[in-house]
Amino acid sequence: RHRAAWALEDYVTGIRSGSRVALSRAITLLESTRPAHQELGQQILDACLPHSGQSVRIGITGTPGVGKSTFIEALGQYLIGQGKRLAVLAVDPSSQVSHGSILGDKTRMEELSRKEEAFIRPSPAGQSLGGVARKTREAILLCEAAGYDTILVETVGVGQSEIAVHSMTDFFLLLLLPGAGDELQGIKRGIVEMADLVVVNKADGERLPLAKRAKQEYRNALHLFPPKENGWVPRVEICSAIDGTGVREAWQAISRFVEHTRQSGAFERNRQQQAQYWLREAINHALQALFYAHPEVKKLLSPLEEAVKEGKQSSFQAAEALLAAFQKPSAS
Ligand code: GDP
Repeated sequence: RHRAAWALEDYVTGIRSGSRVALSRAITLLESTRPAHQELGQQILDACLPHSGQSVRIGITGTPGVGKSTFIEALGQYLIGQGKRLAVLAVDPSSQVSHGSILGDKTRMEELSRKEEAFIRPSPAGQSLGGVARKTREAILLCEAAGYDTILVETVGVGQSEIAVHSMTDFFLLLLLPGAGDELQGIKRGIVEMADLVVVNKADGERLPLAKRAKQEYRNALHLFPPKENGWVPRVEICSAIDGTGVREAWQAISRFVEHTRQSGAFERNRQQQAQYWLREAINHALQALFYAHPEVKKLLSPLEEAVKEGKQSSFQAAEALLAAFQKPSAS
């Protein structure tokens, strides 16, 4: 059948029966800027929503070269061996700034991408971080409806994107290199603080002693942070993604976290808070879109921007005038 002939039911049935093609196409619709695609995408999302939520969502970050794709490859193989199905999504707004994504255009996670039990999707491109984050969150829900029980959301350790990923995941994993301070690795303190698990990767060969020392240092450092609201004490493990050692231990830490927070109710509470946050985000986004599409606002925006630049009006006065124009019922 021709692509355009797919109807809502085709997508939903396809996704629910685990078709990676249907899932991919549905995500593409959500990522599209065309209103007709967007609308169909949202309908698919609505239909899938009752079947979503049943997964563990894991954020993974670390600077380029730390071994994220190698680690995900190893963890993915391990999880598939445990009978799990995993989806790997990415949040990489750098493609917009640098015209080349930091996460890389090379074929990543080659072995994993060949597995039936894995679904790998690169970051939506050409968008603001807010846009990328929203679409990734929608993709998570579709992946869950398709039966993926483990969702990995990968991002690069260079700034705001971690916060976005943290706000859509249950668990946050930070990958680090042995033998280099946080500053050297470009890791901000706030990112270390968000971590539920720190994994010191490349703990092999002559770096093994360094990695062991780094593990101890991070353990000490993490104890200095205020305890987390959910009562979880962040763990530190070492691992060699290349030979797969330590991957099982990393997964055990994640499983313990899930068990612990499910029992205490913190898991569900966190999901609820995230849902509330995303509701506000959706409202803010929709309001902004409405605002900038308003005919009066469109008419007044550039002249007022000019007036502000030339110092003839303050930013606040101009904003007031635009908001007043927005609230006036339009002539039509
Ligand atoms: P990413 O940019 O964070 O996704 O990093 P990659 O997974 O692409 O890994 C960067 C480089 O480090 C590659 O050459 C990997 O082969 C290497 N690498 C990744 N994990 C390990 C590890 O555990 N030990 C060693 N020795 N090298 C590793």
